[in-house]
Amino acid sequence: MFRLNFSHGSHADHAERVKIIRQIERDVGRPIGILLDLQGPKLRVGMMENGAVDLVAGATYRLDLSKEPGNQTRAPLPHPEIFAALRDGTDLLLDDGKIRLTVTACGPDFAETEIITGGKLSDRKGVNVPQVVLAVSPITEKDRKDLDYGLSLGVDWIGLSFVQLPDDVAEARKIIGRRAAIMSKLEKPAAIDRLDEIVALSDGIMVARGDLGVELPPEDVPSLQKLIIRASRAAGKPVVVATQMLESMISAPAPTRAEASDVATAVYDGADAVMLSAESAAGAYPRESVAMMNRIIERTEKDPNYRAIMEAVELDPESTSSDAITAAAAQVARTVRAAAIVTFTTSGSTSLRAARERPTVPILCLTESRETARRLAVAWGVHCVVTRDVQDFGDMVVKACAVALREEFAANGQRIVITAGVPFGTPGATNVLRIAWVGT
Ligand code: PGA
Ligand code: MN
Repeated sequence: MFRLNFSHGSHADHAERVKIIRQIERDVGRPIGILLDLQGPKLRVGMMENGAVDLVAGATYRLDLSKEPGNQTRAPLPHPEIFAALRDGTDLLLDDGKIRLTVTACGPDFAETEIITGGKLSDRKGVNVPQVVLAVSPITEKDRKDLDYGLSLGVDWIGLSFVQLPDDVAEARKIIGRRAAIMSKLEKPAAIDRLDEIVALSDGIMVARGDLGVELPPEDVPSLQKLIIRASRAAGKPVVVATQMLESMISAPAPTRAEASDVATAVYDGADAVMLSAESAAGAYPRESVAMMNRIIERTEKDPNYRAIMEAVELDPESTSSDAITAAAAQVARTVRAAAIVTFTTSGSTSLRAARERPTVPILCLTESRETARRLAVAWGVHCVVTRDVQDFGDMVVKACAVALREEFAANGQRIVITAGVPFGTPGATNVLRIAWVGT
């Protein structure tokens, strides 16, 4: 999957990238997902006199709604919703957390603060307010325009930045509907408090460690990463681990040991996908970063310990025939040493339930829907093929075997495990499991 970060670039830039990605999709003959990542309510200070001022620890500093450029004693903060939420003792973090202020007095249009950690504050630097829930919609005016435009380009996923509450996801769903899948970015402490509800309302989750690591101390990030991945996997929602994964490769052709270990840890934690940001967007070694990440993933998934870790997680099935059949498919595939699990799906939900089990064999997903195939690009272990729907049971077996053979997921004489919903052609629950021999 490719991420288009709408915090940067013009609509024309993004349209050009979508064109390139769709051309690559045709060239390689594989569905590719595109994630439009909305900027969201990124909060910033206003402009400063001469571009920047030095803030010194121990001094007092004022923030207010005045539009006058900032100086040694005060700066503009054009966000009334921040002042409305502040209390004495609330921390404000500026410039990715480099500068820390603590509120000592505040009103609806100002805050007096003490500078705890000083530093250079320049024009339009970002502001984080970790300890409070701000009364801001996760979709700004800019986001609405970006969303309209992105949907017209045919993106597959929408990334929602700075989600705080389940209602934020519900609000986005009202606008987006089913035109794209929704990936909630977990980067606010408030969202962690409502994790399960947010996961339930989203189609996918991103562990957005960049902002999460500003809003919370760095030592909290590893355990939260594990918590978020577990909650997502339990719900069968794809989960992406993002930011600073191979950070040093922005300027070096090889990663540090710690970075290699970080990518591997995300894989061991059970992530569906790992994401590069600046490494591939603005770094000097984009190809090397992608290749390196891929090598680490493949190597880690070959580790017998990886299997053991995946299988140690107990997942409660829902009491539906779909879940029962899908959970059974992983078990059956292992028992009969099948080469692959083949799922027939319209919405993709069956394939996601199969992926949740992290089976020992690949999941081949046959779907009529190109959109579903593209969305599933981010899901663990799922290989989608767009194909016409089958008419009857015999047709299903013949097609599953033919595609498994053609895509080199099974050889003649090997078995595959097939799941589907009958009657065919009507969207509905998966209710059959069939073991078939390829080529006989
Ligand atoms: P961003 O999101 O790159 O859009 O900030 C990811 C993160 O915060 O980690
Ligand atoms: Mn972020």
